[in-house]
Amino acid sequence: MKEFIIDNATDAILGIDLNGKIIYCNEAACTLFAHNRAGLEGREYKTLLPTNAIDDYDKTRDALLFNEHIEAFPTERKNGKGEMVPVVVQYSPVLDNNEHIVGISCVFRKISTFEKAASKAKSLLETAPDAMVIVNQKGQIVLVNAQTETLFGYSKQDLLGKAIEILIPDEFLKHHKRNRDTYIAHPKTRSIGQAMELYGKRKDGNTFPVEISLSPMRTEEGLFVSAAIRDITDWKKAENKFKGLLESAPDAMVIVDEEGRIQLVNAQVENIFGYKRTDLTGQNVEVLIPARFHGTHAGHRNGFFKNPNVRPMGSGMQLLGQRKNGEEFPVEISLSPLETEDGVLVSAAIRDITDRKQAEKELEAFNQQLQTKNKELEHFAYVASHDLQEPLHTVTGFSNLLTNHYSDHFDETVQKSLKFINEATTRMSQLIKGLLDYSLIGKNKEATTVDCNDMVSTIVADMDNLIKERNATITYEGLPAVTAYETDLRQLFQNLIANGIKFSKPDVAPQINVSVTKQKNQYTFAIKDNGIGIDPEYHDRIFMIFQRLHNKDDYEGTGIGLAHCKKIADLHGGAIWLESRPHVGSTFYFTIPR
Ligand code: ADP
Repeated sequence: MKEFIIDNATDAILGIDLNGKIIYCNEAACTLFAHNRAGLEGREYKTLLPTNAIDDYDKTRDALLFNEHIEAFPTERKNGKGEMVPVVVQYSPVLDNNEHIVGISCVFRKISTFEKAASKAKSLLETAPDAMVIVNQKGQIVLVNAQTETLFGYSKQDLLGKAIEILIPDEFLKHHKRNRDTYIAHPKTRSIGQAMELYGKRKDGNTFPVEISLSPMRTEEGLFVSAAIRDITDWKKAENKFKGLLESAPDAMVIVDEEGRIQLVNAQVENIFGYKRTDLTGQNVEVLIPARFHGTHAGHRNGFFKNPNVRPMGSGMQLLGQRKNGEEFPVEISLSPLETEDGVLVSAAIRDITDRKQAEKELEAFNQQLQTKNKELEHFAYVASHDLQEPLHTVTGFSNLLTNHYSDHFDETVQKSLKFINEATTRMSQLIKGLLDYSLIGKNKEATTVDCNDMVSTIVADMDNLIKERNATITYEGLPAVTAYETDLRQLFQNLIANGIKFSKPDVAPQINVSVTKQKNQYTFAIKDNGIGIDPEYHDRIFMIFQRLHNKDDYEGTGIGLAHCKKIADLHGGAIWLESRPHVGSTFYFTIPR
């Protein structure tokens, strides 16, 4: 019985005496070494060794004689056909009843090609960044690496021998079976799931998105398939974020590859162009452009890919898009390059500017109308004030005549009435003159360089009487030279300074300071006083013509001065405004562009 066990063992067994002669072999040894029993027994064991292993064998034998334990190790042995057979060999000493070594037993296990490859592959597998799973044709898992354990939460033992379906979510199983059969029929290296999203299933039942590439491994034992499985949860998250951004963009976004094929569009594209996204993906982007621009567009597109950077498309040009129904519409487009694994893509943000263009057109027309109306009004003001002067002169002339030559003939009531007429005509003449001046601001004049220091100093000199009378102080310095309409600018300074003196507090000497701040594109002048101030409620109203906050007995005036100032600031392309606190003082600001 003992003999039979050894004879029929699946491992090849040889017994060698201390001289190195084979004295025993079992059936499996005959098969492994391709010799019959007679060919093996009596043969020098060394003749089965590859030449380069002979020295090693001597060392092994000596070690055994010294009672050292030798681990099984993979190597090769020569068979009767002169072929090298990969084997794992285990040497052990053969002891007699007195514990003396009388020989060596050698047990050989043939390493199949697959096992050999697998042992090499195994170490490669372990270092792979992906989970690697090798299955046989029946779909049983024969090998997994450590990454697989980490990723799927199973131990190797849990997986080996199991159907690969253990790693696949239920809803994909039906598909998988069919796909596996097709793959086995036409095995080649490829990644799967390009057209569909793939998921893996963990031991705890949770699923996660994966990317898988398959490669066939042909061995003596048949076809095996190795699958490299990558967890793309993070990537998916990033992709979803990107898609979310894309969808929430206010513009139509079209992503195009170097050949001009549309790779991705968002919902806005569907809205604006009237296509379904499925109609567009893969199409040439020129379907979105009127046909007559196709030629030039292709050229521009190539230009962009040669030098891809963020920029508006066709700056200064009127760009047109074309909807599915053929309708053309104005667009504004900005381009940016998008670096991806598949090379550089370009993302185009397209804005339908039909409404804006329409609004611009309307605004322009409105502006035109406004300008015409303004001109008409100015002309009217000019003509009216000019023509009103004539009859007014007549009234003034006759009322003067009556006052100067006939006052003796009039009683007190008539004389009083004449005085009122005189006052009214004087005031009316002031108003008409103001109106006339207003209509003439900026008429037929040229802008020149004006030194504001000189200008203000002349104004102050001219106002000498008033200044003395009101005990006013006027300070200014560092005023720049500007390009302006001289007479009008003088009027502007003069009105603001004069108002500062005029609207002073009864018992406080007016103090007026003129200063400037220089900005990039303009000068901002400030005329500050310590007068009565203005309630914020009236800050807009006072710039309108004939608007006054006081009656003429408190503060005389016509209500034209600030209207003049506003028109002059406008004329120079500047603005005018004020800051003021009642009973504290006011600062009037105006800007003159540089
Ligand atoms: P006028 O000086 O002829 O009344 P303006 O157009 O120059 O007309 O001024 C309009 C009104 O604004 C004035 O009546 C006055 O009430 C107010 N105002 C103008 N400048 C000042 C100032 N520096 N301080 C206080 N109030 C002012």
